[in-house]
Amino acid sequence: MTTSPVNLLDLAPADARAALLVAFAEFGQPSYRADQVLRRLWVNPAPDFDAMTELPAALRVKLVERFILPRLTLAIRQSSTDGTEKFLFTLADGQSIETVAIPDGDRMTFCVSSQAGCALACAFCATGAMGFQRNLAVHEIAGQVRELALLDPPVKATNIVFMGMGEPMMNWKAVSPTLTILNSSDGFGIGARHITVSTVGVLPGIIALGERPEQFRLAISIHAPNDTLRQQLMPVNTKYPLAEVIAAAAAFDRRVTFEYVMLGGVNDRRAHATELASRARACKAFVNLIPLHPGGGLGFDPTARDSIHQFANWIRDEGVEVAIRRSRGLDISAACGQLRVEKIGRRRELTTT
Ligand code: SAH
Repeated sequence: MTTSPVNLLDLAPADARAALLVAFAEFGQPSYRADQVLRRLWVNPAPDFDAMTELPAALRVKLVERFILPRLTLAIRQSSTDGTEKFLFTLADGQSIETVAIPDGDRMTFCVSSQAGCALACAFCATGAMGFQRNLAVHEIAGQVRELALLDPPVKATNIVFMGMGEPMMNWKAVSPTLTILNSSDGFGIGARHITVSTVGVLPGIIALGERPEQFRLAISIHAPNDTLRQQLMPVNTKYPLAEVIAAAAAFDRRVTFEYVMLGGVNDRRAHATELASRARACKAFVNLIPLHPGGGLGFDPTARDSIHQFANWIRDEGVEVAIRRSRGLDISAACGQLRVEKIGRRRELTTT
C-alpha cells in the first residue's frame, strides 16, 4: 500500500503524536519514541529526521518514508538599528511571506503572517495593495516560529501577534490548530495571554476565538470611529459594520484591544477621539494608537507625534485606557507587507510583468 507521506507540521501536537504512535506500533518500536519525535517538531526543533540523532539510523530512514517536515526557505533577513529583525520566507509554490521579530527587554514578539497577500484592501496597508494570493497552511504559519528557532543562534518567541500579512480570521481553519501548536506544552509552550490574534472584525472568527477555552487575546483593527469613514479606509466594513463588530467585542469574554492607525487629517480630530472613546466604552476595549508606518498604502500622512499624544489625552479624558504603540523597524520597512512589496513589487507591477 502506498500512501502519501503525512506532514507532521500541519498537525496539532496531539494529532501528530497519534500519527506517530500508529507508525511506531507498525515499526515494532516502543511508544516513547513517538514522544521523542514529537519534541523535535516544536519544543526542541530539528531541521529534518536525519538530525534526530537520538533515534537509531534505521528508524530515521523509516520516518522519512512515512512523514515529511517541510521547511520554509529564508530568502531575506534584515536587521533594524533598534534590534527588530524582518524575515522574508519563500514557500514551496514560490509565494513570499514575512515575519518580524521584535525584541523588547525580556520579551521577543514575533509578528507572523497568516495569508500570502490579503483580500481586504485596507487603504493604508501594503499587504492590502498586493491582493490575495492564498491561505497559509498550519506548517507555514507555525513554521515561521519554527524556522527562527532553527537559526544559529536561535531566535525564540515569547509572544506572538498575528499582525503580519493577511487576515487570520479568514484562515481560521489553519490559524486555530496553529494557536494550539503555539500554546501547547508539546508545541512552543507560549502562554495564551501572550498570543494575540488581530482582525479587521470578521465576526465568525471572533466568535470562534471566544469559544476556545484558552485565554488568547483579541485585537480589532478599528481605525475609524464611524461607518462612513471606516468604509472609505476598510472596504470590509460593508460586510461587518462597526456596530456589529463592537457587539461581538462586547460579547467576547476577555478584554479586547482596539487598534487605531493615526492618519493625518483623516481620523485624528477631536470629534474622532470622542466617538472612538464611546465605541471603546461600549465594549470595554483598550485603545492602542498606532503611528502610521510610512510605505504602506499611498496618499496618507502620519499624524504628528504631539498630535498623537493630544489624541491619546482626549481619549483618556473620556475614561478609556489608551497607549501609543512604539514604531519599530522603521528603517527596514517592518510594517505589514512592506518587505514583500520591496522584493516583488505592488500588484500593478506584478500583473504587468
Ligand atoms: N488583518 C489583520 C492583521 C494584519 S495587519 C488586521 O487588519 O488586524 C496588523 C495591523 O497593522 C492592523 O491593525 C493593520 O491595520 C496595521 N497596519 C497596516 N498597515 C499599516 C501601516 N502602514 N502603518 C501602521 N499600521 C499598519
